[in-house]
Amino acid sequence: MLVWASAAAAAGGTPDRLRQQEIAQCLPQEIATWRDGADRPAMAPQLRWVYRHDGAPAWFDAATVLAAISRAAEAWSACGTTGQVALAMPGTVLADDVVLVQWSDADSRGNFGLASLGARKLSLGSAAFALLNSRNPGYPAGDTLQMVLSHEMGHFLGLMAHSRRCVDVMSYYVNGQGEHCFTRDGRMPGGSTDYRALLPTACDIERCRALNRPALVSRQP
Ligand SMILES: [Zn+2]
Repeated sequence: MLVWASAAAAAGGTPDRLRQQEIAQCLPQEIATWRDGADRPAMAPQLRWVYRHDGAPAWFDAATVLAAISRAAEAWSACGTTGQVALAMPGTVLADDVVLVQWSDADSRGNFGLASLGARKLSLGSAAFALLNSRNPGYPAGDTLQMVLSHEMGHFLGLMAHSRRCVDVMSYYVNGQGEHCFTRDGRMPGGSTDYRALLPTACDIERCRALNRPALVSRQP
C-alpha cells in the first residue's frame, strides 16, 4: 500500500548524485525492512499484468498508463519473475497468473494504490490522484503513477514488508513511532520531488531475487 502524505513534501534536498548511486547499487547492510510484513515468493513464476482503463483520471490516457505498467514490469524482470503487459478486453476471464490493474477508489481505499493479492487486483485510486492534482497541479502525476505501479507490483512479487531504505521503491519514510528511513548521508528526504525511486532499485531487486531464488532453482530440470 502507498499513502504518500509526503509525495509533494517541501524544502531541503539531498544531492541527486547520491540518490542515483543508491538506486544503482545495494550494499549488503542496506537491505533492511520495517518488519511490517512477511516476505514470500511471488504468487506465480511469471506474472502477467492486464490493464483496464475505465475510471482513470482524465489526464492519463490508456497508452500512458500501459507504458508505465510496462516500464515497471520491465524493471522488475531483473528479478526474473514478471511477464507480459496487455490491455484488458471486455468480458475476458483472467487466468491464475494474471493480475488485473484497474482504477477503483473502493478497492484502493483512498490510497494511490493497493495490492490485493488474494483478488489478484492492483487497484489505483483516481480520487487520490485527483487530490494530488488539485493541491499541486504542477506536480508530475506521471512520476507518482510510475512509483505507485512499481511499488504495488513489488508486493505481488512477494516483497510484503516495506523497505527502510528511503530510496527503495518499496520504502516508506516514517513509521507510527516517528522512526525514519535511512539514506547514505543520513539526510532525510525533502525537496519538491520524491526521494523514493520511480522504479525498483538495486536493493529492491536483490530482495526480490532472494525471495524467488528457491522457486527458480526448483523449477530447473
Ligand atoms: Zn506498500
